[in-house]
Amino acid sequence: MSYLVLARKWRPQSFDDVAGQEHVTETLKNAIRQDRVAHAFLFAGPRGVGKTTTARILARALNCAQGPTPAPCGACDPCREITAGMSLDVQEIDGASNRGIDQIRELRESVKYASVSRFKIYIIDEVHMLTTEAFNALLKTLEEPPPHVIFIFATTERHKVPATIRSRCQTYDFRRIAPAEIRQRLAKIAEAEGAAISPAGLHILARAADGSLRDAQSLFDQVLAFAGSTISDEDLRNILGTMDEAAVRDFARAILDRTPEAAIEIVDRLAEDGRDLKVFTREVVTRVRDLLIANAAGEKTGRFVDLTEAEVRELIEEGERVPAETLHMLYQLFVRTEDELRWSQRPRHTVEIAVLRACHLPQPVILADLIERLSQAPAEAAPPAPQPPARPSSPSRTPPPPAGRRPVSAGPRPVSHENRQPSPEPGPAPVQSGQGGQSGDAESVWLNLVREVKKKKANLGGYLEQGSLVRLDESRIVVGYKAASAFLQDMIRRKENRETIETLAKGIAGRALALEVTTLPDDAPAPPTAGERLEEKEKKGQKARAEAAMADPLTQSALEMFGGKLVSVENGGANAAGANEPPEAPIEEEG
Ligand SMILES: [Zn+2]
Repeated sequence: MSYLVLARKWRPQSFDDVAGQEHVTETLKNAIRQDRVAHAFLFAGPRGVGKTTTARILARALNCAQGPTPAPCGACDPCREITAGMSLDVQEIDGASNRGIDQIRELRESVKYASVSRFKIYIIDEVHMLTTEAFNALLKTLEEPPPHVIFIFATTERHKVPATIRSRCQTYDFRRIAPAEIRQRLAKIAEAEGAAISPAGLHILARAADGSLRDAQSLFDQVLAFAGSTISDEDLRNILGTMDEAAVRDFARAILDRTPEAAIEIVDRLAEDGRDLKVFTREVVTRVRDLLIANAAGEKTGRFVDLTEAEVRELIEEGERVPAETLHMLYQLFVRTEDELRWSQRPRHTVEIAVLRACHLPQPVILADLIERLSQAPAEAAPPAPQPPARPSSPSRTPPPPAGRRPVSAGPRPVSHENRQPSPEPGPAPVQSGQGGQSGDAESVWLNLVREVKKKKANLGGYLEQGSLVRLDESRIVVGYKAASAFLQDMIRRKENRETIETLAKGIAGRALALEVTTLPDDAPAPPTAGERLEEKEKKGQKARAEAAMADPLTQSALEMFGGKLVSVENGGANAAGANEPPEAPIEEEG
């Protein structure tokens, strides 16, 4: 009993059967009808989208006993011989394994002989693999092709085909096939094969095939062999190794809600199930991309994403509740994480750290909210006086969520110093700030240290940023973590990491500091982490810059003129370290 794989069994036999390449097949049909068939074709496009299939149909159309015809009969001798791959006049050559000059010389010899049927047709697949000498030999034939010879070249890498060859060919660009088209084809096959598969299952298959119908069919083959004729979505995920889409959606939602524990729970569950976190992160990147599209395109989102109608509605709802700026930052963060995962020895940690960062991204400041706040509190309206970089902390002034959007939970807020109760339990005492120069210095050393470590080793900086300064004295710097962050503590304690931090600390403090890591008591409010303090400072800096910018009559008239809003004010060349510096005076042009 022979089993014919689906891709062969369902290979299109006519131009009209070819999926998703109407722009090619219609042109070819017209050329045949008008008897204007070229002598050399170049079919370019991704793998598995129908290039060789179309080449064979073209061969049949030209050599059919009733042809040349746009609709070859499929029953005459030439048609059947071509379908079976037995035609003496239609030769298929694999460019990858016949890439040398000798094979092309052979071809040039055979070109001279007359054909049995109307045309002698050479289909050279992966033509870009030919050697330069082979191309040169081929070129001679292409320059003066015998009237009965037709070349059809196929390539996945058109740019590797020499321009001298390309210029003698009629080029056709084959496209990646749309997921909807692939789903439709698979549904037809499933029905004919008596296989039960859900619409969601077809979605999963089509997405995994990434635009290639041949890949989709061979994946379907694998699934049928594994699951038999009833295919559950779970089977599909097991075979294809694709991610549970609900997990990706829930994860993205947890990030948008700034609830790291929910997101980390999902990561841990996937890791324990042995799922590939790299694949997962790639899906997360796609999800954030889809949210960005939804944020920008609103009701038209369905045209740009491959999701069911209900999923699109949910996507739009989620995409619109977060500012686009935040989604942009999330996109970059997860693209970077995907990249880091290629080398990471501990993928789970890498993704967990990404979660913590994602949940602590700064909220974009929208000027309208600032103005509203300013008008409510006139005493604050004066531009702030220049401040020393390590000013003792004041209550954080987190702007409210942007108007017209559903409020987003801001995640763990920095504990305000004024409200902190002294811990009744013995344990590491939080560093006292707001009580004069000494502690202010301690904090500025600490925050500078975190910044420098981040610059030098982004990963390590990310770990350090999640810690809080517990104590800084003449010879020691003590950093505290919550008990739940045991792995962060382990990372910081590693010899090479500790040395990096201590070296940088010495440079900043001007004296040797030994790094100690401690666990913060669970029952006392935790002091703010470095990340939270830096974020707070960045916000204050933004606010100061925004206020100064608004005080500038130029900005005011510009905003009036364009009806715009000020999203952020870049402090020329300054990074977060300069956030508290006074805004630069506007440069006056010389008359
Ligand atoms: Zn025929």
